[in-house]
Amino acid sequence: MSNKEDKKKNKAIQCCGKDLEFKIISINPNRPSYHPQIAECPECNAYFEKKDKNDFAYKSIDDGASFSCTKCGGNIQGVRVAHPIHDGLFFNSGSGECYYEIVPYCPSCEKKPNFHGDPVIEEPTI
Ligand SMILES: [Zn+2]
Ligand SMILES: [Zn+2]
Repeated sequence: MSNKEDKKKNKAIQCCGKDLEFKIISINPNRPSYHPQIAECPECNAYFEKKDKNDFAYKSIDDGASFSCTKCGGNIQGVRVAHPIHDGLFFNSGSGECYYEIVPYCPSCEKKPNFHGDPVIEEPTI
């Protein structure tokens, strides 16, 4: 019994028997809450996206038409999240417009993302 081995496992997500190496992609300011890490299987070229805190990923199937969960195999759903745009002069002020973003999630392994996303802070235009 050694604890070292447990730590080594590190919950790697695998495809074709290989550990996937997830890369953080540059943050797109148009995606305020969903910043996926991406990986590609060196064997079958399957494309994966994963949220930073998750120990499972979304596997692209049908040429990216849909995604399946690497943990439970379920279909990944997308939920629309509204981010109010705070572009006014005062804190929490703004035009009342929202930026909408589709955030993927697994209905069995994850909580549904909150429709009311984090505000998008924009520099006021004077
Ligand atoms: Zn593969
Ligand atoms: Zn799942």
